[in-house]
Amino acid sequence: MDSRTSTGFIQRLKSLNIKVDTDLLGSQFTTYRIGGPISYCVRLRTDNDLLSLAEVISNGYEDVLNQENVCVVGNGSNLLIDDKGFNGYVFVLENDLSQIGEVKHLPDLGIQVSARAGLSLPMFARKLVQHEIGGLEFFVGIPGTIGGAVAMNAGGHGKQTSEVLKSAKVLNLKTGSWKTYATAECNFRYRSSCFVRTDLIVSAEFIGEKKSSKEIKDSLDEIVAWRRENQPGGRNVGSVFQNPSDISAGALIEKCGLKGFRIGSASVSHKHANFIQAEQDGKAKDVNEVIVHIQKVVFETTGYELKTEVRYISNDE
Ligand SMILES: Cc1cc2nc3c(=O)[nH]c(=O)nc-3n(C[C@H](O)[C@H](O)[C@H](O)COP(=O)(O)OP(=O)(O)OC[C@H]3O[C@@H](n4cnc5c(N)ncnc54)[C@H](O)[C@@H]3O)c2cc1C
Repeated sequence: MDSRTSTGFIQRLKSLNIKVDTDLLGSQFTTYRIGGPISYCVRLRTDNDLLSLAEVISNGYEDVLNQENVCVVGNGSNLLIDDKGFNGYVFVLENDLSQIGEVKHLPDLGIQVSARAGLSLPMFARKLVQHEIGGLEFFVGIPGTIGGAVAMNAGGHGKQTSEVLKSAKVLNLKTGSWKTYATAECNFRYRSSCFVRTDLIVSAEFIGEKKSSKEIKDSLDEIVAWRRENQPGGRNVGSVFQNPSDISAGALIEKCGLKGFRIGSASVSHKHANFIQAEQDGKAKDVNEVIVHIQKVVFETTGYELKTEVRYISNDE
């Protein structure tokens, strides 16, 4: 990071009332509660903040932000931040940028509902009860945000984000330009999309269907109960590995006898083998070593090469 350029960039943002923190730890932003110091945390709270940011970037600060020095953080429920932290810019969306938006009835499509990218998925799912919008109940079990769900094509309970998304509005942090992506342009695949680290998803539109509040609420309760029954609580990021096409990663890990396997502060959950739990004051190094060990043992025992779903943020990428 060129320190003169970054100081100028940060000063410009601050002069426009954008909040920038320089004393925060990655552990404050992730469900693992792991991660060292973050150089700059840019906290975007209003549409004005977004417009100002875009304007600053496109007026002299193009290319300051790039694939190596930026990370947009939602709820950090799929992120592992390095123990040494991240010498770059973390962007978070708060306040106005974490609200539900307009509801529109579209005669041929269903009910369209928009949401700002910082909104929590469980909160979104619960807010839809009062609007009698069904079809998006699966979000209640995924502890991320709208932005994280779009970036990751999050899914569960037989549905994924790509099936309910209509469009996503994105600010390009490299150029300061805006684009609204239709679903077909997002190149959604299993737990991935076209979006790269300099794409800041700011809002999304979803299509749901009319259902009674009772029917929606019953589905939410069922999903939450299933999660409680089948997944561990505590510090984790959900499934660490992507499921191969014909078998679940958890089944492979369990088959290899790795439930409970531990290195330092990180261990494979006894309840769900695809979850790696961290202890209080856990270390990214321990989680990474458990990941590498699982990949090695599963490959040697079964021939499957497990790929990670969790995204790793460090200075060494
Ligand atoms: C207990 C538990 C259960 C889980 N169950 C599931 C599940 O059933 N299905 C599933 O798919 N996932 C699951 N997850 C993982 C996680 O919740 C999802 O991947 C979720 O979509 C991540 O959202 P987030 O806001 O936390 O994103 P983060 O973890 O903050 O970020 C993940 C990625 O999304 C990007 N991103 C986040 N916000 C934005 C934005 N506004 N603009 C651009 N990029 C952004 C980040 O840069 C990063 O690359 C689970 C996690 C936990 C802890």
